[in-house]
Amino acid sequence: MNPKRRVAVYPGSFDPITLGHRDILERMLPSFDKVIMLISVNRNKNGLFTPEERVELAREALKDLPGVEVDIHTGLTVDYVKKQGAGVILRGLRAVTDFEYELVMANMNKKLAPDIETMIVFASPEFYYVSSNTVKEVAFHGGKVTDLVPTNVAAAMMKKFGQS
Ligand code: ADP
Repeated sequence: MNPKRRVAVYPGSFDPITLGHRDILERMLPSFDKVIMLISVNRNKNGLFTPEERVELAREALKDLPGVEVDIHTGLTVDYVKKQGAGVILRGLRAVTDFEYELVMANMNKKLAPDIETMIVFASPEFYYVSSNTVKEVAFHGGKVTDLVPTNVAAAMMKKFGQS
């Protein structure tokens, strides 16, 4: 591990990755040497895509962004962050409704790992209403999601919902 390298971890479900997620990565990349999008495996949540499918979709959708890696992890995010020698957890904030959850998570992670900082980044205006859940709902009913998710993700959702 090179302690001078600035590494951030961007954890979440990413079921699937949206253009809102990608926007956060693109905007934050210049501030770090590497940003790892971390697909967190949550035993209480059954997603549309398996964690392995989410990794594959995210890797394809982000392959043009040097400095971005995609990984998968079961367990505490702070343990993964420490193992990577990263100092920062990145999270995005859309509406006020995100705030309380992010506040709780940031404080819990601070309690577990005082040396790790959570950095909250506001969603861009064009993506503040975009969430994985709403996008899945729109796609399920045959609505257009091409402006909301990467092209490969739109295709994968259509396939899942038997529309291709
Ligand atoms: P969760 O970890 O709650 O399952 P997601 O996987 O959907 O959330 O998203 C991971 C992180 O990205 C969260 O901090 C979430 O608030 C943020 N995020 C989700 N969608 C957007 C968006 N459109 N713009 C900015 N940030 C977003």
